[in-house]
Amino acid sequence: MLTEQTTQLQTGLRGKLIQPEDADYDISRKVYNGMFDKRPSMIARCADVADVIAAVNFARENNLLIAIKGGGHNAAGLGMCDNGMVIDLSPMKGVYVNPKKKTALVQAGCTLGDVDHATHAFGMAVPSGINSTTGISGLTLGGGLGHLTRKCGLTIDSLLEADVVLADGSCVRASATENKDLFWALRGGGGNFGVVTSFLFKLHPISTVYAGPMLWDISDSKEVMQWYRDYIKDAPDDINGFFAFLTVPPGEPFPEHLHLKKMCGIVWCYTGPLKEAEEFFKPIRSFKTPALDLVGPIPVPALQSMFDPLYPPGLQWYWKADFVNELSDEAIDLHIMHGSQLPTMLSTMHLYPINGEASRIGKKATAWSSRNATWAEVIVGVDPEPANKDIITNWAKEYWNALHPYSAGGAYINFMMEEGEDRIKATYGDNYKKLIKIKTKYDPKNLFKVNQNIKPSQKG
Ligand SMILES: Cc1cc2nc3c(=O)[nH]c(=O)nc-3n(C[C@H](O)[C@H](O)[C@H](O)COP(=O)(O)OP(=O)(O)OC[C@H]3O[C@@H](n4cnc5c(N)ncnc54)[C@H](O)[C@@H]3O)c2cc1C
Repeated sequence: MLTEQTTQLQTGLRGKLIQPEDADYDISRKVYNGMFDKRPSMIARCADVADVIAAVNFARENNLLIAIKGGGHNAAGLGMCDNGMVIDLSPMKGVYVNPKKKTALVQAGCTLGDVDHATHAFGMAVPSGINSTTGISGLTLGGGLGHLTRKCGLTIDSLLEADVVLADGSCVRASATENKDLFWALRGGGGNFGVVTSFLFKLHPISTVYAGPMLWDISDSKEVMQWYRDYIKDAPDDINGFFAFLTVPPGEPFPEHLHLKKMCGIVWCYTGPLKEAEEFFKPIRSFKTPALDLVGPIPVPALQSMFDPLYPPGLQWYWKADFVNELSDEAIDLHIMHGSQLPTMLSTMHLYPINGEASRIGKKATAWSSRNATWAEVIVGVDPEPANKDIITNWAKEYWNALHPYSAGGAYINFMMEEGEDRIKATYGDNYKKLIKIKTKYDPKNLFKVNQNIKPSQKG
């Protein structure tokens, strides 16, 4: 029965329906995090909105679980599922820049790199994340943190409209004037409300920035963290800097004497006038001379893809996250204790600032409620070797357990594994009830549940 219907679905699609017997099944079911090895019944590679509508209708009518794959980068592997249907948006890669209106219409299968490539040609940028291979869809729906957060806000703060295929197969627009409740929920509520097929973003006139990493010896961590904590609190919006514990990779552009050394660092991004950058950085450079300083003028797409070669698809990743308001000296000591014990070369800890412009948007203005947190902390155990899964997982858990008592409650959903309803509730705080209401209106049967799930109310 299903086979006959499946054939009909395939005939109606412009894209390809991939099933377990197909040669491209194994490659198509891979996600970025190599810890996941899910086996869906079928993957609908959607070429356009009509394909998405057909796939949603088919899955609903046949009671199939749905996973939505944008860029497939999700920490928890939520772009893929076992048994059900994967709606794979990766063929939908159009980006249409309107230089007069300073907007970009972006199809849902784009990576951050696709967006940067298209907008940079016009001297503009969409604020997004730090690896160009990440999907714009999942990143945006979760919030979107990156090098331009303090200057421009989260990615959702530049979102003007989204086109969405709902659970009933209808396609609607969500914006400040149409389906306002849906627009509110999409900005931070993840993939809970439907399949977004395109995003309209406001563009920012940012093209070349003064940016890059500065590294210090791990023994200087306390001084660097304390200085960073105080500096970033009241720094001008033009400067963004995320703190990291890391191991120096053994290759260019890093000098040989630093190879494989554990260090601490800050990755800067200055969006002010380039001619003033050197002067601006004088106090940063002089508080403690860095062991390595790679900060200089760089085009936005190059900055946003700087770390791509280190992190190819298929590595093992274990993520733990929290929001943080204050970084006490006690917390700093614990950070140093765990951060200096990175278990593998690629494991790291980042503190992303979310003050500046991101904090000026009201806590209730979008679903993303943690506007008054100072940082999004993420601890990631990473390694190519599946045999090291336990080592990286245990390190991340122990690190997180030590620091969690100093956190603000909740975590950025895009930095979380599947950690249960309480964590999701804590993340959305006062916005959780409203999210349930909107979920119940747009997806009463929870057709879209392979995500950081907000369950619809049973009362309807
Ligand atoms: C190497 C790396 C670097 C990262 N850096 C950053 C960073 O700098 N800043 C940051 O904010 N985040 C960052 N992230 C986290 C990233 O935002 C999340 O992993 C995000 O989920 C990725 O989106 P995706 O489209 O690639 O994911 P997918 O795995 O394809 O999907 C993730 C989730 O979003 C939903 N979804 C995807 N597309 C749609 C759609 N079109 N409509 C409805 N629902 C959809 C899916 O249902 C799923 O639940 C990073 C992740 C990695 C692996």
